Amino acid sequence: FNAIGEDREIDRDEFTPEIEPQATWCPGCGDFGVLKALKQAMPEVGRNPEETLLVTGIGCSGKLSSYFRSYGFHSIHGRSLPVARAAKMANPDLEVIAAGGDGDGYGIGGNHFMHTARENHDMTYIVFDNEIFGLTKGQTSPTSPKGHKSKTQPHGSAKQPIRPLSLALTSGASYVARTAAVNPNQAKEILTEAMEHDGFAHVDFLTQCPTWNKDAKQYVPYIDVQDSDDYDFDITDRGEASEMMQKAEDALYEGEVLTGRFYHDEDRPSYQEEKQATGDMPEEPLAERYFDEDYEWE
Ligand code: SF4
Repeated sequence: FNAIGEDREIDRDEFTPEIEPQATWCPGCGDFGVLKALKQAMPEVGRNPEETLLVTGIGCSGKLSSYFRSYGFHSIHGRSLPVARAAKMANPDLEVIAAGGDGDGYGIGGNHFMHTARENHDMTYIVFDNEIFGLTKGQTSPTSPKGHKSKTQPHGSAKQPIRPLSLALTSGASYVARTAAVNPNQAKEILTEAMEHDGFAHVDFLTQCPTWNKDAKQYVPYIDVQDSDDYDFDITDRGEASEMMQKAEDALYEGEVLTGRFYHDEDRPSYQEEKQATGDMPEEPLAERYFDEDYEWE
């Protein structure tokens, strides 16, 4: 590791540990795309591995913290966000990234998702969205389309899929985007913007699971809403963003994948900024106080 805060060129290879992702991820898995985009985004953000914490939940996505060289915490199912929140409160200088799958993040951890978005904690939340539970062998997840057949819903799911973008917006996320593993350039740009954003940045990251979800639509051509003449909306306008998200969420299950930036509120202060402004939270890392023998606790 290098010195914290050192002013130098950062290379994406610094984020590559010795362990190989091929050890557990299947060939063709979209998770490789997330890892690659994240490594490419880090030099753009200008953060060293030692300034970065990656917290993951349980699932194939949870292995990300093993294959990305930084501080890491492989937490329990659906709980990456509470761990990430605690770390950010203790050390606001850290670049905090939380990650999990659609089952982990929108199902088991759905409550944490809503409240972390509502409170606008300053972090990036990457949800690997492959429309199934992958690690446990392909069960129906909160984003599986209605009618999707799996071992847990052999006659087809009767459940309406969750709308992750709309849920993030209505819960209070200040940055909401969707990208895809098969679109690495856009993914890198979106992850860079998400990490540079001061507040809760939610990225619904479409990842194909060729092993358990052969019907997934992640292979069809993607449309970047920012590059398309068919879509014109203001990402800083909550109403227009909401309308566009609903179009994207409907389209996904009709064979059209709309990706891009959907909402960006740069004015709303993050939870950490609010707490520092009221004096409830110090500007220096709380963790430093624990190692300062002379610090006088009140
Ligand atoms: Fe990827 Fe699916 Fe294999 Fe998990 S089971 S590593 S999500 S392809």
